[in-house]
Amino acid sequence: MSGFFSQENNAVASWFLGPRAENSEFVLEFYKEIIDEQVKARTTDYFPTDPFFITETMQNSPEYKSNMNSLRAQLHNISELLAKKTVPFWSPRYMAHMSMEATMPSNLGYLAALQYNQNNVAIEASPLTTWLEIFTGKKLCEMLGFTVHWDINESIDTIDERKQHHLNYSQNQRMGAARNLKFYPLSLRLAVDNGPLSFISSSFKVELANGSHKLLKECSTWELLNLKPTTVLDIPDQLFNKYGISSQFLQEVLNEKYIIQTVGKDYLEEKFHIKESIVYFASETMHYSWPKGCAIVGIGSKNLIGVPVDDAARMDIDKLKELLRKCVEKRQAVYAVVAIMGSTEHGACDPLVKLRKDFERDHGLSFVIHADAAWGGYFRSMLIKPHRSSLKARRRQGLEEKDDSFVPLLALHPHTEKHLDRLKDCDSITVDPHKSGYVPYPAGGLCYRDQRMRYLVTWTSPVINRANEESIGIYGVEGSNPGAAAVATFLSQDAIGLLQKVMDYCWDKQLFHIYCHWATMSTKEDDFIVTPFNMLPAEKLGPKEVEDQKQEIRTLIVEKTNDQS
Ligand SMILES: *Cc1c(COP(=O)(O)O)cnc(C)c1O
Repeated sequence: MSGFFSQENNAVASWFLGPRAENSEFVLEFYKEIIDEQVKARTTDYFPTDPFFITETMQNSPEYKSNMNSLRAQLHNISELLAKKTVPFWSPRYMAHMSMEATMPSNLGYLAALQYNQNNVAIEASPLTTWLEIFTGKKLCEMLGFTVHWDINESIDTIDERKQHHLNYSQNQRMGAARNLKFYPLSLRLAVDNGPLSFISSSFKVELANGSHKLLKECSTWELLNLKPTTVLDIPDQLFNKYGISSQFLQEVLNEKYIIQTVGKDYLEEKFHIKESIVYFASETMHYSWPKGCAIVGIGSKNLIGVPVDDAARMDIDKLKELLRKCVEKRQAVYAVVAIMGSTEHGACDPLVKLRKDFERDHGLSFVIHADAAWGGYFRSMLIKPHRSSLKARRRQGLEEKDDSFVPLLALHPHTEKHLDRLKDCDSITVDPHKSGYVPYPAGGLCYRDQRMRYLVTWTSPVINRANEESIGIYGVEGSNPGAAAVATFLSQDAIGLLQKVMDYCWDKQLFHIYCHWATMSTKEDDFIVTPFNMLPAEKLGPKEVEDQKQEIRTLIVEKTNDQS
């Protein structure tokens, strides 16, 4: 293997324990380092004159010794069981599941933080790991194409910036945000009609989906359910600028007896005579977590409507438009349309097309656009030129620093590339480091284009400005969550940087070879017929052309090694 690719391969070799445990020496060294540091923290750094709690006498007692001996045996048993009975994700021979080996940096990060049992639910209990979660989330946002505001002096010593993301989310959270956003204008309307905000009723106007303006108190339910997401998120700002209503006051008023989190969906639906259930749209190929999430947040899985897909398993946009038009006719509001960027079974990327603007302008219909890039999001790293930090990472690894040098021989499919690049226009994106980020579970990410959206899954309303540090636990539905997962993601990103794309590229290339092999396995004479899901281009022409193309693939790719093809 020559030149550039051999350098890249050398780098990838340093990121894993290795299918044959080739790097075990380093893993042992690094594990020891983690414990050494912890010993230092406990013995010399924190109240070094404190007496020992566990004495030598205790350690020499029969109870102590017997427990240690059993623990040794138990640990041996469980380790042996794990070694024998778990599936070999580490091996290139095993591709039966989408789980894969985690990188060495991510495992090290996880273990290092695990030793300190950090819970990122409350910042005071996890100052460092919360900061790392925020930092890592911003990096993820950047990778996906969102604009991120970095504070000039941002460093581990300054834990006070605004967050734009949430790691370790659960599926319900993304659904909760869209649901709460949809109902927020209704809650506000109740408070304005005959509640504590009635003093603004004769003057407070909102922008409708079609761009016109109207007094909030005169809006129909349909109009309120179709305010653009940005319009809803702007409301607290507007109330502050126009009437001096502080976000805290607004929050107290709404929380008391108006917002959906307090009164529930049924109450608001009844008050506003909403007959048609509000619906969610996602490709038929959606991950099972979507109907589950709908069930949990009370949207109801029957209100999650599958949009038919085409031959390549991508959402059929004409069918989607048809479904949305039906919603307009029936005056049925829509929470969100979900585009799957890399479907779990087929790796298919839905097209991200500009249709919301048209529906807003022409039909007064608005909704959130969410991208489910849980699986495919990391592949956007293949579209990014390395910037300074990853150049530094390259230098650390003794690689050339030239930044334009990465020209994959096999790039992403042009369709995938085009639509991954449009991720930045979505309102929110799911991306899972524990999928193609090669990070151990549970490290899931939910990124918002507009950070104010994350307030919608709390008991707070979207607020104007919160400059100070705060606990990020309030943005999740899960409460407690492991700081270790954030550190795992952080260390992997820090060590590997955007060279992540090298791994994604290797993976892509490996799959491409497997695909070519399967696609050309059967000949005309065989009874054993293999039909790949992704069609060969010649399948549109005829059987003769298919056989010719298969032969071509055999000679050009299947019979060659990775480097030659
Ligand atoms: C895995 C996956 C999810 C859900 O991920 P969790 O890890 O279960 O949160 C959602 N969508 C797609 C496309 C996935 O592959």
